[in-house]
Amino acid sequence: MIRPAGFRGAAFCDAASGNGRDDPDKRSAISDELGVPREWAFVRQVHGGVVVTVTDPGSAGSADGLITDRPGLPLTIATADCVPIIVEGDRSVAILHAGWRGVAGGIVTAGLEAMKALGDTPRRAAIGPSIGPCCYEVGEEVRDAIGDHTSRTTFGTPSVDLWSAAATQLSGLHVWRSDLCTYTESGLRSYRRDATTERQVAVAWLPQD
Ligand SMILES: [Zn+2]
Repeated sequence: MIRPAGFRGAAFCDAASGNGRDDPDKRSAISDELGVPREWAFVRQVHGGVVVTVTDPGSAGSADGLITDRPGLPLTIATADCVPIIVEGDRSVAILHAGWRGVAGGIVTAGLEAMKALGDTPRRAAIGPSIGPCCYEVGEEVRDAIGDHTSRTTFGTPSVDLWSAAATQLSGLHVWRSDLCTYTESGLRSYRRDATTERQVAVAWLPQD
């Protein structure tokens, strides 16, 4: 589990934490480790650009981001190569699921706008483990969608850099990046590497005083 320094309530779990999306026992263990309530708010992720405002745990429907200003309500998304992003404001927190479609389709901007709609100001963002430009070989459709942030894999094929694309969309904020590639790090789930249905979760919350 990675806890980015300087963040109030942000955690990126790894494979060792288990499948916190599907396994309630693992979710409870993660909650206990983080010192947060065991009931989380989550969405059915659809690779879109919608961020929902939540005040209660449970399913918030189909979306790719959640935001809350309620202390003690953990928000989660689950990934295995897509980019998990946590944004902290002064009195709200958002969590985003950003694959290439999300990055191209504006999920990051939607998260920042949702925070402003709550009357808050985005201050810092954490970009968690996900597939890196080192390994994210893609075709022309994806390169066109991601625009400037094209790269090359370590094995010499065209790729895109979702980390720098996301960071650019977060400009003006303090941005933390894990720079850990899920494809290369054996302790992280990678759909592309393993065709797995297992996921690792990211969790964001506002601490209760
Ligand atoms: Zn890699």
